[in-house]
Amino acid sequence: MPSLVPTKQIIFDIVREFSIITQPHESKYSVEFNHGGYMFMIFFLCTQWTADNIEAKYACPCAHVYAERAESTHAYNVLKYELDVNVPMTERSLQGTNQIVCMSQEDGLSTAVLHSHTLTIDAITVDGQGATYATSGDSLIVDLPQPYSNGDIFTIEITYHGSWSVTPSQIGFVYYPQQYNSAVQHSIAYTISEPWDARRWMPCYDEPYDKADSGWVVSVTVPDSFVVCANGELIDVTDNPNTTKTYTWKELYPIATYLMHFAVSRYAQWSDWWHDGYGDSVEIRHFMWPADSALSHTSFQHLPAALALYDSLYGPYPFDRYGQDVVYPYEWGGMEHQELSTIHRNWLINQSDRGMAHELAHMWWGDMVTCVDFRDIWLNEGFATYSDANYIWHLYGYGNFMNLMMQRRSYYLQADNAQRRPLYDPPPGQIFNYGYTYCKACWLLHMLRAVDVYHTGTDTTYFDAIAAYRDSFAYGVASTDDLSAVFSYVYGYDMTWFFDEWVYDQGHPEYYVFWLCEPYGQDFLAKIKVNQVQTNAPIFHMPVQIELSTTGGDTIVGMAITSDSEYAEFVVTDSVTSIDFDPNDWILKEHQVFYGVEEYADGHHLPCGLSFSSNPARRVTISYFVPVHGTVRIALYDVSGRLQKNLYAGVQTAGQHEIYVTDLSAGIYFCQLTTATTEETEKLIIIN
Ligand SMILES: [Zn+2]
Repeated sequence: MPSLVPTKQIIFDIVREFSIITQPHESKYSVEFNHGGYMFMIFFLCTQWTADNIEAKYACPCAHVYAERAESTHAYNVLKYELDVNVPMTERSLQGTNQIVCMSQEDGLSTAVLHSHTLTIDAITVDGQGATYATSGDSLIVDLPQPYSNGDIFTIEITYHGSWSVTPSQIGFVYYPQQYNSAVQHSIAYTISEPWDARRWMPCYDEPYDKADSGWVVSVTVPDSFVVCANGELIDVTDNPNTTKTYTWKELYPIATYLMHFAVSRYAQWSDWWHDGYGDSVEIRHFMWPADSALSHTSFQHLPAALALYDSLYGPYPFDRYGQDVVYPYEWGGMEHQELSTIHRNWLINQSDRGMAHELAHMWWGDMVTCVDFRDIWLNEGFATYSDANYIWHLYGYGNFMNLMMQRRSYYLQADNAQRRPLYDPPPGQIFNYGYTYCKACWLLHMLRAVDVYHTGTDTTYFDAIAAYRDSFAYGVASTDDLSAVFSYVYGYDMTWFFDEWVYDQGHPEYYVFWLCEPYGQDFLAKIKVNQVQTNAPIFHMPVQIELSTTGGDTIVGMAITSDSEYAEFVVTDSVTSIDFDPNDWILKEHQVFYGVEEYADGHHLPCGLSFSSNPARRVTISYFVPVHGTVRIALYDVSGRLQKNLYAGVQTAGQHEIYVTDLSAGIYFCQLTTATTEETEKLIIIN
């Protein structure tokens, strides 16, 4: 390997140290989870969390303070839902009673606002007393018969029904009769609720930040030829006298309304098991139409391997059991209902193991740690999407992983091209924009990992940060700022810049990289300039790596990025023949590499290389670089700022340009270059 010494001091105000990476593909799939080691840190995060929360409505998310781990940001906190529902399976309708156990979070609580959409409310009682109510849009405002004090527990019971037509596109409560089309083998009904559609089949407080802390129990009564599956554990099946059956399922863990789910059809079922090697087992129970059962054994065979992978990356599976229910017709691919993901029948038919691995990853990220609200949906989908990419790496190799990442880069660039906007707080209808919420978010996790790899040569600390995030927010909710605080704490240096640039701001870096190499005593000097030329976007401070290919071998150097134009020199023992910018594709970016003339490198303070053939000069060739196609103007001013001569004004293509200037009077000038994206001025002295 050639020796490698930066000859200029690089200011590491973003990163404190910077490693040369020799094993860029190194990774690991086993992480030591030393929970005890984070005790201090968890305490730190708790105090920070409440201190930073201006509204101070969140309770502490510490894992050991279960009773206070409510996420409610409204005047009461939902503790539990108990839904009793009748599904006739002959039409798209249901009728039910929902008991909502709540705890008041203020003194004198006299109303409770819930959500309900296209449901008919038949009656409401509170602690057994009849209650009046009003509706306004999706809000169902219940007048409490008596005021409740902070900490009082009360139960709202709502009897309701709903009925809708069977349309090709359905949300909330979905129903299709057998032979609705030729592929509908059996009548099917199911719920699908993310983000705000649980209110379409059950009056509830329908925001992810108020999880039902003690879970939910759902009893579904159906004609006795049907099977019901739902979140959690099947605790009872009752044969009723009227040829119906009532299935009761119980979810023990805190659960957000959008993750609550039941499905009804003539399901077959079978169970797989994953054994963690330490004596614990997780049952994986699948529900599908009987004709698909045989194929499903093949299609679902990779789930234990995915469970093992995530267990090694993220810690123990967070719930007691897992499973999948297969539905059709279905508008989506899959949905991570807690402990029971719902998948499109096509995933079974096409054996789409990556999609199933994605939904499984949501059990940790989305279900156990839930985005505080849907402005932070990127947290759910970024973690799950990067997890399914790592599943691909684990099972099918790094090349397939990287191909998938580059595909997702393309999807993001398309979405960015259609509308440049921040990742945070998607506009209406864009919550599930694939390019942003999934692909860009996936790349953010990749880049957070890169920051660790740059520093330490491994991704150990990245996975330590993930473990700390898990331990701090398990079974609760988290925000971008929470993730930022964890990464800053565990990495040991401030990471807020990363989230400011990539989550709250918009766009991505577009790098123009100039390089050249020249003799330097016995050695060679590689000069590299990295310019960022993106518009309508911030400067990205993500450190970069550059691979130098020399006649004696390849080596990777790192550069910290502190401004839109960064310059560094490296002494190498052999001449550099080419460079590869970000050779391991750690950064979501666009870039071009130019073999630059020396002036570019020497004039590293210039954003895009305005330079003169000589200075002072009698006559001069002005060289300049146009970053993007557009208007260009070059003008000379005297020392008092008066325009002396317009040298060029017009439209030019991106790239290198020259202009030859003679017949100037002797004197001191300021040459100003203005392009569509840049402006720079250099002093020029003309002598005669
Ligand atoms: Zn997802």
